[in-house]
Amino acid sequence: MKAIELTKTLIAYDTVSYKTNVEVMDYLTEVLESIDCEVERVEYTDSEGVLKVNLIGRKGQNSGERGLALLGHIDTVPAVGWSENPFEARIVDGKMYGRGSCDMKGSVSCMIEVASRYSSAQLDAPLYVVITADEEVGYFGAQAVAEKSEMFKKYGFPQYGVVGEPTELKAVYAHKGAVRFSVTAHGRAAHSSTGEGDNATLKLIPFLSEMREIYNELMSDTQYYNNEFTPPFTDWNITINDGGCTANITSPKSVCTINYRPMPGDDTELWINRARESAEKYGLDFDMFINAEPVRIEPNAEIIQAAVEITNDSKPHTVAYGTDAAVFSNHMDTVIIGPGSILQAHTVDEWMALDQFDLGSDIFSKFVEKFCL
Ligand SMILES: [Zn+2]
Repeated sequence: MKAIELTKTLIAYDTVSYKTNVEVMDYLTEVLESIDCEVERVEYTDSEGVLKVNLIGRKGQNSGERGLALLGHIDTVPAVGWSENPFEARIVDGKMYGRGSCDMKGSVSCMIEVASRYSSAQLDAPLYVVITADEEVGYFGAQAVAEKSEMFKKYGFPQYGVVGEPTELKAVYAHKGAVRFSVTAHGRAAHSSTGEGDNATLKLIPFLSEMREIYNELMSDTQYYNNEFTPPFTDWNITINDGGCTANITSPKSVCTINYRPMPGDDTELWINRARESAEKYGLDFDMFINAEPVRIEPNAEIIQAAVEITNDSKPHTVAYGTDAAVFSNHMDTVIIGPGSILQAHTVDEWMALDQFDLGSDIFSKFVEKFCL
């Protein structure tokens, strides 16, 4: 099983998060079974009523605790404005282009290649390959796996986890969390000349002003900084949307959406509650979409130190983006490390350098050798 070939096949499945992933997971079920994995499908229906499948492949002896999970997601962000078909892998100048090549169908393929390298008899501790849905929109697949997997209920969670997000194969021990909520003002549309309308955006303005105060506090007061991260502050990114209302109509609906990335040790609820109370004060609707914790595994933990050693590095690192580790690190000792660069993830014409495939598989293999053989 070669990761490059498998990645090409996976890119051809359009697995943008909001779509069902049944077809690709049917295919991957066959792939995992063909390399002698016992396979569990963990299914759920998302908030839009779309069926989502997560897969757990397992091989190796049932020797008690320990064991290792290679953890990846199959969903991707949307692909708009590409110069070529984003769902057809193209290899040009040592790079594989295609949506998900880097984030993270390439990495998932490396995990499967690695699982194919070892027979069950060789694995003294179990090796798992876990492939989730909905990572890009809030880790809902990982949550379903953690809560509902019969396999993990039966055998227990493996002791160690490797979340294979693109880190350029550097060991990552901590990342920021992800909070996203929206606040909606309702009004009434009318021709603005008539005086009959009720402008929703006007109602949002006092709330926006208070959100700017929070933004200023978080950016200017260094007690909220965490120098383990680059940048050492959060985003509190404020966006507004009135549906493209034209200027001679009173806007019937105006929505402010805020993205906030809490860091380990932050009092996340303090800021969320301030926003919620402000929304209530001005009669606006508050909706929480994502509230995922930051992740910080002790840099001295065995899995982190193993990752530093395997990569011949001097220390582990932090990143600013979130991963399924927000869920899985509550159940196993987790490190985040994978092929490809986050700079290419989510981009138009996303690509992964071809040398990352073999490098990624070899690094994942070293974890298997350390923790399963
Ligand atoms: Zn990802």
